[in-house]
Amino acid sequence: MNILRALFDFLYGILLGCRHDHQTRPFTIEQQTYKVCLDCGKHVFYSADTMRPLSGRELRRMNAVQSGELKVVPVSGATASLKNDGESRAVA
Ligand SMILES: [Zn+2]
Repeated sequence: MNILRALFDFLYGILLGCRHDHQTRPFTIEQQTYKVCLDCGKHVFYSADTMRPLSGRELRRMNAVQSGELKVVPVSGATASLKNDGESRAVA
């Protein structure tokens, strides 16, 4: 069952990075600490504070910060969307 094996590898990759043994030591570049897998090229992110692999929650937070999601101000965003809804309805 290759599909099951692929699925297992996929989930394992999400949870624990990757399964390969050929990885660099953790190093820090541009405030990110990670290992690089020499087999699949995957980046396995580490916490620079604890030097342990990041948990899923920490990883998501890091990605959110990088993509700018956490810089959005919720209140102004909600106000803008309400205003836009009213305008689009009036136009339509
Ligand atoms: Zn790998």
